[in-house]
Amino acid sequence: MSSPPTPTPLVVGIDLGTTNSLAAVRAGKGARVLRDRDGEPLIPSVVCFHPDGRTIVGREAKALRLSHPDRTVFSVKRLIGRSVRDLDAEVRSLPYRVVAGERDLPRVQIGDRALSPEAISALVLQEVKATAEQALGAPVQKAVVTVPAWFDDAQRQATKDAAALAGLECLRILNEPTAAALAYGIDGSKDGTALVYDLGGGTFDVSILRIDDGVFRVLSTAGDTHLGGDDFDNLLVDRILASFAKAGSSARPSDPYVLQAVRAAAESLKIRLSTEGSATLDLDLDLDSTDGGGRLSLTVTRAEFEAAIAPLVQRTLDCVQRAVKDAGLRIDQIDDVVLVGGSTRIPLVRERLEALVGRKPHTGVDPDLAVALGASIQADVLAGNDRSLLLLDVIPLSLGIETLGGAVQKLILRNSTIPTSRTEEFSTGVDGQTSVDLAIYQGERELARDCRQLGRFKLRGIPAMPAGLPRIAVTFLVDADGVLRVNARETRTGVEAGIQVVPSYGLSRDEVRQMMLDSIENAQADYLAREAIDVRNKAEAMVRGTQKALQMAELPPDQTYAVQKAVKALQKLLAANAEAAALKAGCDDLTKVTASIADDVISSAVTKALREEEQR
Ligand code: ADP
Ligand code: MG
Repeated sequence: MSSPPTPTPLVVGIDLGTTNSLAAVRAGKGARVLRDRDGEPLIPSVVCFHPDGRTIVGREAKALRLSHPDRTVFSVKRLIGRSVRDLDAEVRSLPYRVVAGERDLPRVQIGDRALSPEAISALVLQEVKATAEQALGAPVQKAVVTVPAWFDDAQRQATKDAAALAGLECLRILNEPTAAALAYGIDGSKDGTALVYDLGGGTFDVSILRIDDGVFRVLSTAGDTHLGGDDFDNLLVDRILASFAKAGSSARPSDPYVLQAVRAAAESLKIRLSTEGSATLDLDLDLDSTDGGGRLSLTVTRAEFEAAIAPLVQRTLDCVQRAVKDAGLRIDQIDDVVLVGGSTRIPLVRERLEALVGRKPHTGVDPDLAVALGASIQADVLAGNDRSLLLLDVIPLSLGIETLGGAVQKLILRNSTIPTSRTEEFSTGVDGQTSVDLAIYQGERELARDCRQLGRFKLRGIPAMPAGLPRIAVTFLVDADGVLRVNARETRTGVEAGIQVVPSYGLSRDEVRQMMLDSIENAQADYLAREAIDVRNKAEAMVRGTQKALQMAELPPDQTYAVQKAVKALQKLLAANAEAAALKAGCDDLTKVTASIADDVISSAVTKALREEEQR
């Protein structure tokens, strides 16, 4: 008897989309999408909590959207990892109820249940997992899951949590544009610049990727979180309803069943127009009456459709130009154009993009399958089956902690290749302090108030010591998924506290962009503000250090008096909130007095005390 062959570990790639989700797997050289029993690759990212108690996911749930608007959850990707405050306008446009839960995190209210976006995403992922298992005939436990390039730490972490809830170990969170580039054979073996144009159901994203030595760097992103195929459908829905009205139909467009049927018809009309010059719709909506008032036959030509969507397509091109500009490039410096998202099947979209960039987009991979296929390539690498490919990503915004006076000390700089970690030593600011508050910030600006707080925590249990003596090692670790962990340890005593960073909310892509612009615009003012804080901190430290040194050193009374006088003068300036220049002068005066003292006892004591302060 021979032992059965050891199965290679199965890791799938999952595109968890706003509109549709799907999984793919790579076997050998080829990657393939895992289809459901009907051969359909796409699973609508929709969950219906039916009044009869069933939880329905996918195509059937999508069909229930209009008949059960308050119990059918779609586009939950818009909510994940964000706070209700951030989502303000978004929440009001949704037909289901979103309420604020703990820490202002959104909860979807279905009857008396309040569900987290993670839990709802997990239901979608479970459906994807089940479909993949059925297609593969084997259990699936590990996955690479994709997210938009502009997803921040909290949104990535929440996506990972959703995977865990679905019973999937998420080996890596991968940027969607990077995944798409991989699917098109841009694998990092050749340096270049790629433009990834992703027009899905409800969102549009464009990313400029720079590939150097196998490292994928996101140079810029732009887009519109409310622009996609749904908008094209809506234009056709309006057209259909207008024809109904003209024909004097008795079908009521306010009836959810009617509207659902019209929507479905509009989408199928749109899809046919991607390959045909004109398409005809035959609808019979009048369910109850026998007068034939619900019957409609309508022909729409591709030219008519194109005229209607042209302004929306133009908006995407404006974003493309902005992204190229933000990346510091000219459009002729783009090497590859990659199409992603079902809506890039529309010929007009391809034509207009090609005309703008002056280069043929890559075709040959189904645009709505590309992200999942690319994720499966990365999954295969992580499963250990392909060692030829090394994939790296970078973090979009700098990360740091707030220090004395409201400045931010950055530990990890924007565009650092991940995974990465850095440890810095800090100390206490007050004598006998037994706990410190650590606040974690994201952003490019110098001051905490201009950056985004990601979370905060307390390190407790520090033995009481004079200020500046405890040595607190703070470690920032960004793992391969771009997820941040912060740890703090008092090294002198070995006291270690259990510390958890809880991301409070996420950032939208526009906010990331705005923060970048702000940091450039305010660089000068920030520098001055930062300098003012630094001078103040230095002056305070000098006062403390000199006072300590005075106690240690035995000085003749006249010298003690001279030093005390300079200290008092500096204290007065501090109390009066004096300007940086005055404080600097006060520090210099104090240094002169202490330095002029014959035996350098005091100045060396001050230097020592200062050095300890600076470690903070
Ligand atoms: P997402 O990334 O938002 O989950 P997808 O990439 O799956 O979305 O794109 C879904 C959108 O693509 C839908 O609006 C769908 O109608 C549209 N779509 C799919 N196929 C075609 C086609 N052949 N022509 C035009 N639009 C299409
Ligand atoms: Mg997508």
